[in-house]
Amino acid sequence: MIRLGLALAVALFAPLQNPQPYSISYHLAMSRPASHMFEVTVEVTTPAGDSTPYVDFQMPLWQPGRYSVADFAANVQEFAAQSQGRALSWTKIDDQTWRVQKQGSRSVTAVYKVFGDDLSGTYGQLDVGHASYTGGEVFMYVAGHKSDAVELHIQPPNNWRVVNGRTERPDQHDWQYPNYEIMIDNPTEIGPDWTEDDFKVEGKTYHVVVHSRGDEGGRRSSFVRDIEKIVRAEVGMWGTPEFDNYTFMIHFADDDRSSDGMEHLTSTQIIQPGILADRETYYDALTTVAHEFFHAWNVKRLRPVELGPWDWTRPAATRGLWIAEGFTQYYGVEMYHRAGFEDSTNFLRDLSETVETIENSPANRLMSAEASSMAAPFIDSALHRQRTNLGNTSLSYYLKGELIALNLDLLIRNWTRGQRSLDDVMRRAYDEFYVKSPNASYYLKGRGYTIEDFARITSEVAGRDMTDWFAKYVRGVEPLPYEDALSGVGLRLVKSAQSQPYTAGIVIDRDDRQVVRLGSLQSDSAAEHAGLQQGDVLLTIGGTPVARDNWAATLNRYKQGDRIPITVRRFRRTTELTLQLGPPELFEYRIEEIPNASADAKRLRSAWLDAR
Ligand SMILES: [Zn+2]
Ligand SMILES: [Zn+2]
Repeated sequence: MIRLGLALAVALFAPLQNPQPYSISYHLAMSRPASHMFEVTVEVTTPAGDSTPYVDFQMPLWQPGRYSVADFAANVQEFAAQSQGRALSWTKIDDQTWRVQKQGSRSVTAVYKVFGDDLSGTYGQLDVGHASYTGGEVFMYVAGHKSDAVELHIQPPNNWRVVNGRTERPDQHDWQYPNYEIMIDNPTEIGPDWTEDDFKVEGKTYHVVVHSRGDEGGRRSSFVRDIEKIVRAEVGMWGTPEFDNYTFMIHFADDDRSSDGMEHLTSTQIIQPGILADRETYYDALTTVAHEFFHAWNVKRLRPVELGPWDWTRPAATRGLWIAEGFTQYYGVEMYHRAGFEDSTNFLRDLSETVETIENSPANRLMSAEASSMAAPFIDSALHRQRTNLGNTSLSYYLKGELIALNLDLLIRNWTRGQRSLDDVMRRAYDEFYVKSPNASYYLKGRGYTIEDFARITSEVAGRDMTDWFAKYVRGVEPLPYEDALSGVGLRLVKSAQSQPYTAGIVIDRDDRQVVRLGSLQSDSAAEHAGLQQGDVLLTIGGTPVARDNWAATLNRYKQGDRIPITVRRFRRTTELTLQLGPPELFEYRIEEIPNASADAKRLRSAWLDAR
């Protein structure tokens, strides 16, 4: 709620703070690709009579879609400033801000280099093969003038071509954007050997830009046709999109490492670690396509109130990522199914796996969906130098949100006898907050929603007051009402102990490949009660020497109530302890059909599972 107040304050007072916009123009060059150095020039002209004695150039701490702090300023080097050939003095006033004194000039030019060598949806890469960047990791904004229109000019190396989600003609090197936030929402590929394939759906043009660093196996044309199937399924749900062009920017990195998917207003950036010729990589890419394209509506346009315009000097605190990411996760799986890539059995198995992950998670009764969203700066690819307990205390807003979506979808279908579904909630929210709301800020059309807004829309569609439901399952940590939700469509959740139901709360340190070293143990677990602690090296269980690949099987020879002698090495000494197993800890979850379900339930099930 604090952030809502801030967003409104920015919208109301921004015109007073910035009576006259600056003229801001960016130049991006990359004359030495092997150096990984992006060369950036920012030209700023202030209006006559502007009394501010300096211009502040600021690197954002993060950029949209990844909520942990990225500290882009760490890769800035060789900053300098001048005006018409005259050097201007500047100082670094904090970790992200370079203050340039105007010294009587109206125009200020800042130049700097940015090192980038990560193929990622957040960081940039320049190497001898290409340049790939998103925006915030390369471009500083002018503090106080983030809302001003900006220009961008790109100077690629010889024979390298430039493409992004706002390319309108071949050989385009210049762009104009209504504000900085829109400029950095446009990942760009620059290189000699990317390909482009196009198709149209309902009069809109879709571009598929592929940069393959490995073998495509002749599969690109079928890949593009399969993307079209996903586009048709999603447009079928949302209706014709408002954009004229949309670009899938896809890397097949062939490095077993680089992997990402990032949503943008008129594009998505997808990075696969494998090659297109590989079947698994091919279908992984399609599932990511299904997820990211759904974001063109959910999060990029229909958005939580905290998501834009942004304060880039601190991480965002967002309550609604379980909708923005979690519902997108649900629909990504659903649209992959609706597009015909996965039959109902496999679709239900996918959902069962998410139930299993969440229900077996130690944080499931500790962290709510809303709290998980607020923890995003700590859990979304965040790096921690201190030891944290997040393994015990944090839950994925992707997966918990997926399950909230599943439950809501099925309950609404049941309560409305199949007249409505979660699709109606999404469409109605998109219409009210994006299409029909007056613009709340310079950033984008419409306004962001609060959780209360979203609960109201859900109530309207469901035909009942959902306030308590949100209190229990979104803000609270009560077990989701699977039985109610699934039985309405003739399904049930079957829970049984896994074949190896015990870990005793032991988590193995993945970084130590030599021995069975304990990582962060689960709270209140048998291992913790036995006196085990992080760093202990497990030697024997019940007298049997154990290694990384057999300790779990050895432990699972025992059952509830057994007292098991174990030995560990701790501080160079061997210590003996006794582990006592409690009830089974890990369960298998399977969504299956109820035999003899009612005809009504079967009809609702078919409407859900067989939708095309
Ligand atoms: Zn590339
Ligand atoms: Zn996403």
